Amino acid sequence: GTAQIGVTGLAVMGRNLARNFARNGYTVAVHNRTAAKTEELVSDFGDEGAFLPATTPEELVESLERPRRVLVMVKAGAPTDAVIEEFAPLLEKGDMIIDGGNAHFEDTRRREQALRERGIHFVGTGVSGGEEGALHGPSIMPGGSAESYDSLGPMLGKISAKAEDGTPCVTHVGPDGAGHFVKMVHNGIEYADMQLIGEAYQLLREVGGYSPAEIAGIFRTWNTGRLDSYLIEITAEVLAHTDAATGEPFVDVVLDQAEQKGTGRWTVQSALDLGVPVSGIAEAVFARAVSGHADLRKTSRHLAGPTPRKLSEDEAATFADQVEQALYASKIVAYTQGFHQIAVGSEQYGWNIDLGRIAAIWRAGCIIRAAFLDRVTRAYDAQPGMVSLLADQGFADETAAAQDDWRAVVATAVTNGVPTPGFAATLAYYDSLRAPRLPAALTQGQRDYFGAHTYHRTDRPGTFHTLWGGDRSETGS
Ligand code: NDP
Repeated sequence: GTAQIGVTGLAVMGRNLARNFARNGYTVAVHNRTAAKTEELVSDFGDEGAFLPATTPEELVESLERPRRVLVMVKAGAPTDAVIEEFAPLLEKGDMIIDGGNAHFEDTRRREQALRERGIHFVGTGVSGGEEGALHGPSIMPGGSAESYDSLGPMLGKISAKAEDGTPCVTHVGPDGAGHFVKMVHNGIEYADMQLIGEAYQLLREVGGYSPAEIAGIFRTWNTGRLDSYLIEITAEVLAHTDAATGEPFVDVVLDQAEQKGTGRWTVQSALDLGVPVSGIAEAVFARAVSGHADLRKTSRHLAGPTPRKLSEDEAATFADQVEQALYASKIVAYTQGFHQIAVGSEQYGWNIDLGRIAAIWRAGCIIRAAFLDRVTRAYDAQPGMVSLLADQGFADETAAAQDDWRAVVATAVTNGVPTPGFAATLAYYDSLRAPRLPAALTQGQRDYFGAHTYHRTDRPGTFHTLWGGDRSETGS
């Protein structure tokens, strides 16, 4: 065969990735369960590059050079297993199956191990950037063996997004499920980013008294500064949009019940397993859940709240600046939590993930792409073993400068009865980290009281228990 890569699964993502490879000069074998989609791709875009249409898996495999590379872009879950089982028997030692779908990293670990035993490299790969990214350059997060990356990496580098300094947004994340794990946390951070932006909007609207169009203007201004990011940019577009049918702001005619596909939930489930506090991400997932419980919200509408205090125009302008500070500081914390989860996951699963490279490949192509990630990249480059993003002096200085406004915004939200779970949770995390003493000492006392769970002392080593039901003397060593 002569094709450098084969793509099976030609829905939006697979079709666009296949076109991206072809536009970059690769010969691409293409296959889809329903053959009509393969024909459509070749008839619509055949002039963009070299496509070899295949009607069967056998035909696709035959048209590939060795080692063979088969990119699977089908529905995540059982369909992915079914397609792997179709192709694996047709492949030989050293060939590769690349899963670019949104697989759970535990599934990827299982599939990688099973295929490794059969001599096949299984590369679970995170792909972010949606339909447009897949065509013009996504951020790519491949896991799997280092050997597979030797031959696959340069190809992925060609089709990936490029950061402003020209670096391709792809890196070998780590073995087995590392790539899909990092993609999962990326999506968790995306949830947090979106929730924080939503809270900023809600405050500007309900406390600041601004219209959606005015808030779009505020976001456009923010987008020229340190908050410069894809999500802020599209938020301004959505807020500025007017519904054609009613003439109302678009945001006012959309049902306020957010949906989710599950990667945010996976992030939080994994964080609970790993014991990593990702409160900002968790609140974002819960906020979507709250929004979706229509009956619960309907029966709660009569509950008492404060009468909001309307700000004057001058006060509103000052408030908008404070909200920008709060949004930025909360964003730093959300990323701090996400990167902490990657660090702990990497340790737990033995992945040896380079956090600086992860920040670097998120600078372009993906949904959370932002000027901010260039700062994160430089922070990790300066201190590779950094335990927390907040250990970076630059970020510590920025949160120091933002904290008064951040606190004022959360206080204003609470006083006015505007829910800001993301701002509040990230601020609480920040204060928990700085606190010289936490009430965990009291928790330990309670646990020792009711369950004899023992405690450690600040002044000497050992494990102790107080005889709470007796004379309250201390035992232990
Ligand atoms: P879909 O998730 O909608 O999957 C449709 C494709 O899967 C079709 O090609 C379909 O073939 C194929 N398929 C489904 N079941 C089977 C089966 N049992 N055997 C063989 N083929 C099957 O496509 P998308 O392009 O939206 O996404 C592909 C993957 O990429 C998914 O895992 C998704 O989560 C992930 N992803 C999607 C993003 C997006 O923005 N959409 C972004 C990043 C990742 P047929 O035409 O015959 O029905």
